[in-house]
Amino acid sequence: MTLRKDENPRREIEDAIYAGDLPKLLRISGMLHGHYCSFSALGVKAGARAMKELGIRQSTGMEEVVAIVETNNCFSDGVQIVTGCSFGNNALIYRDYGKTAFTLARRNGQGLRISVRPDRVMAERSPEANELWERVVVQRRGSEADGKRLSALWKELSFRVLTLPDEEVFDIRKVNVDVPAYARIFASVKCSVCGEDVMEPRARMKDGKPICLPCSHQEYYQLAGDGLSIITPRAQ
Ligand SMILES: [Zn+2]
Ligand SMILES: [Zn+2]
Repeated sequence: MTLRKDENPRREIEDAIYAGDLPKLLRISGMLHGHYCSFSALGVKAGARAMKELGIRQSTGMEEVVAIVETNNCFSDGVQIVTGCSFGNNALIYRDYGKTAFTLARRNGQGLRISVRPDRVMAERSPEANELWERVVVQRRGSEADGKRLSALWKELSFRVLTLPDEEVFDIRKVNVDVPAYARIFASVKCSVCGEDVMEPRARMKDGKPICLPCSHQEYYQLAGDGLSIITPRAQ
């Protein structure tokens, strides 16, 4: 799909990638992510590097370009905003490996995998930030002032992380990946209990009628802070 130049809603982001304006990209990522932190900054930096290296000028969210993320931590929000591959447009593929890494690939499988070397980034954290992190986040007993000071330090750190040489914070290699087929378009059926529409393959049958997963009380997949898991509803 080709869009006219002025019809690209990601123009500002893609211009910033090619202008090397990482601070601007980090500010934009903050709109999605809600705070500034070193891992979302690394996602921004990795996303911009991969977009440039693969020469992607426009990511339309139509699955021509896909991002395979290996973590659901802050890093992946930076990746989503910069690459335009998101949870909702099916161009984001989540592999629950628990590694701070991602691959950007074209539909033909040609891609770039970037993984983070956390030690280099952790070394940038000041003793004060480490101490506050322990008190505010780990022990949850910091004062309001501690919390404010920590987010100021985090913000300062996240913009500094952008300036570190890519080769010091990342392992970068060319890869060939199996890109999943385009997302299929499924028909909807109506749940015979709650009346809501359900994507057909997610519906179950009960007494010969379609029923949605929550009404059926059957197992379902959930993506939460812990990653992907199968949830078994309590017996009714
Ligand atoms: Zn974060
Ligand atoms: Zn239902």
